[in-house]
Amino acid sequence: MRLFKKIPYLLKTYISAHIFRDALQFLLVSNKKITKVFPVEVHITEHCNLNCKGCSHFSSLADEEYLEPVDFERDCRRLSRLTNKFYAFKLLGGEPLLHPKITEFNDIARRHFPGIPIQIITNGTLLPKQPEEFWVNCHKNKIKILISQYPVKLNKDEIKKAAKKYNVGVEYIGNKNKNRMCKMPLDLSGNQNIEESYKNCIMSWGMCVTLRGGKIYACSTPAHIKFFNKCFDKNLGVSESDYVDIYKIDSKKEIIDFLCRPFPFCRYCRTKETDFGETWDISKKEITEWL
Ligand code: SF4
Ligand code: SF4
Repeated sequence: MRLFKKIPYLLKTYISAHIFRDALQFLLVSNKKITKVFPVEVHITEHCNLNCKGCSHFSSLADEEYLEPVDFERDCRRLSRLTNKFYAFKLLGGEPLLHPKITEFNDIARRHFPGIPIQIITNGTLLPKQPEEFWVNCHKNKIKILISQYPVKLNKDEIKKAAKKYNVGVEYIGNKNKNRMCKMPLDLSGNQNIEESYKNCIMSWGMCVTLRGGKIYACSTPAHIKFFNKCFDKNLGVSESDYVDIYKIDSKKEIIDFLCRPFPFCRYCRTKETDFGETWDISKKEITEWL
């Protein structure tokens, strides 16, 4: 897909003060020349309290599942030895504010990545309920909170008050229009052309690089497909060629090399049919939401 065709999609999904940095990242990595600026995402919870239809992270299909701080720390330690230069380190899910130990994740991330912007990406609905300890910890660790907007009620006044009181950066991203969802349909047969899928994919330029269980994935789809497979009794296969194991490589270059090329799992993605105007709704857990 040509650059000019992608810009409206970016604007639609990512209108925020971050747009200029996002655009810069996009320009740097377009043509698949991924640089050191890519962000890394980690799910600290798999489930979510919103359960959106067709969630691209499959969180509306996930059982209640929490990442253990000890496992997170092990991966952060290893990754920081390979590189500590990222565009941002993002704690998300699922809904990360469902994790009762979220402040431990903030501490660990900041300890291992002292100079990197660390962000919590949340739907914001649980923010007004956060205790003082959460806000104090975010301030101490210089954590920025990015609120992905959905067409749901949000107590923005309460959030603003707490953010001001504890001097924590809060920013709203995306828009809350009903048709704000992005759907990239899956192909259960796995018969898509890998190169074509990758070339036409908005996620293949380093926007959703995912760290999960000691492995780096180029995007959230293979990283979390197990929830789709389990829920619908499918077997969209993830092989060793679909990720890099951070314990088996010696340099960041090997991550970059991996992120710059198509990989077998792309055969499941009908990227040309991506719809950026999908209507938001609560998931009924029907397979058609992802097809
Ligand atoms: S709020 Fe985000 S993570 Fe949660 S179900 Fe909706 S799209 Fe998925
Ligand atoms: S698996 Fe490949 S084609 Fe599918 S979303 Fe990820 S990068 Fe895009």
